[in-house]
Amino acid sequence: MPLISILPHLKRAQQNRYALPLFDMADMYSVDGLLAALEEKRAPAMLAVYAGALERPNARAFVAYIRTRAETANVPVSLMLDHGSSFEQCIKAIALGFTDVMYDGSRLPLEENIANTRAVVRAAHAVGLAVEAELGHVGSGSEYQEFGAQRKGFTNPDDVERFVAETGVDILAVAIGTAHGLYAGEPHLDLELLREIRSRVDIPLALHGGSGCSDQQFRDAIVAGISKVNVATDLFVTTAQRLTAAARAEDNLHYFAFGKIAVESFQERCGHYLDVFGATGNG
Ligand SMILES: [Zn+2]
Repeated sequence: MPLISILPHLKRAQQNRYALPLFDMADMYSVDGLLAALEEKRAPAMLAVYAGALERPNARAFVAYIRTRAETANVPVSLMLDHGSSFEQCIKAIALGFTDVMYDGSRLPLEENIANTRAVVRAAHAVGLAVEAELGHVGSGSEYQEFGAQRKGFTNPDDVERFVAETGVDILAVAIGTAHGLYAGEPHLDLELLREIRSRVDIPLALHGGSGCSDQQFRDAIVAGISKVNVATDLFVTTAQRLTAAARAEDNLHYFAFGKIAVESFQERCGHYLDVFGATGNG
């Protein structure tokens, strides 16, 4: 089916207490593996391209590949811009055929984040896309001990209602103790803060930095109000490990074998998360 905006599916997830994943993609193998998992598990999801990849010369061709592959899949798939860094970049993604965008103004002062998010929402809503924004700042896992573990960047619940009301944003990414990339140490999630945020607004809440959280942490976060979970690092790290292991185990491994390993790895990891998030069977 054609690419869709994920919002109705996220709202259904919110009502029924499961979460839909956003998976970042890097190449055709990752697209093929992720789509195979979505079809196998009959689950909707957001497939995403990280904002920086939009600046590469193959961006238009890559988006065309994703769109063409998704059209023949029998599950609802959104193509979402992950961490759009400016209004201009979000518009570029819309012009390329993305069906949802995240604008990330989380490093900016609150007023600027509100103003920029509002502008992106206005443009995106005009053409039927949903917008995600980030309030508070989800930091880097490599700096976890100095940042997230110290509660730095955590979402201030007192800002949440105003941010959502003044921007009109559809999905809110919250900072409650996760981080992007590999964690230095163990992640600790503040579920009390999450419940507090959940009680203030009624739109789907997103958890970034899913790689490195335990299955139980995901389940607890979903019960406490998360409806969307972003996963990227684990997909790439695990797949790279499997490719390395295969190359070590056998000399002269055929090029095609690497592609097969990569696709199967993405499918397996994606399938695991769909099961843990309760998304399986909801497509
Ligand atoms: Zn993120």
